[in-house]
Amino acid sequence: MSDAANSAPVVRLDNLRRSFTQGGVTIDVLRGVNLEIRPGEIVALLGPSGSGKSTMLQAVGLLEGGFEGLIEIAGINASALSGDARTTLRRDHLGFVYQFHHLLPDFNATENVVLPQMVAGRTAADAKARAEELLAALGLGHRLDHRPNQLSGGEQQRVAVARALANRPALVLADEPTGNLDEATADRVLEEFLKLVRGEGSAALIATHNERLALRMDRVVRLHEGVLV
Ligand code: ADP
Ligand code: MG
Repeated sequence: MSDAANSAPVVRLDNLRRSFTQGGVTIDVLRGVNLEIRPGEIVALLGPSGSGKSTMLQAVGLLEGGFEGLIEIAGINASALSGDARTTLRRDHLGFVYQFHHLLPDFNATENVVLPQMVAGRTAADAKARAEELLAALGLGHRLDHRPNQLSGGEQQRVAVARALANRPALVLADEPTGNLDEATADRVLEEFLKLVRGEGSAALIATHNERLALRMDRVVRLHEGVLV
């Protein structure tokens, strides 16, 4: 990566807008969102249900079209890219954690973390070593060969965290990553998630409606009536 890419914000949004039209009714969900996240910075995205958190993460994750405004990832204007180039940008710079783990059911924990690395061109041996290192850091050293349905909810979400970090993304996007867990487990998994992200030096944008958990992050931004306050 060039020095310019290293010092650029990992994400920059300028006047991001998104509307949905359904049954003749248009709702403006994002009405001009501005945001910059510096390398290594962990940002909580707060806002009540329906305020547009998931919509905003889909924009930053380059997962959906239909947005207006600037989306820049690692200094690259993603809005101007072709589909293939967006896929490459996403693979090289971004990691994702969702509320539900979306692990592949027929693959064990290690394999679920190996696969995205193989897609990115790593050797099988390197990918396996990296997967085992991440899973061990999350306390899953004894669960490497377990398939998702043999793991608890908290363990499944830890595997999803390891998968998101496998390719050393500059930015991890997480949409209510602990929203499907009981409170005590959610606290523990989030604690480990943040520790690992900090250790890896990745930045993160984490949507949550849990104010208490948000206070453990570097900065809190809040979606209110389509803009960040
Ligand atoms: P949050 O994640 O904060 O709960 P969302 O981003 O999921 O909020 O949704 C924000 C608003 O956008 C909601 O009113 C939702 O109904 C609407 N919305 C989201 N996705 C779509 C879609 N694909 N089609 C129509 N409306 C949508
Ligand atoms: Mg949501």
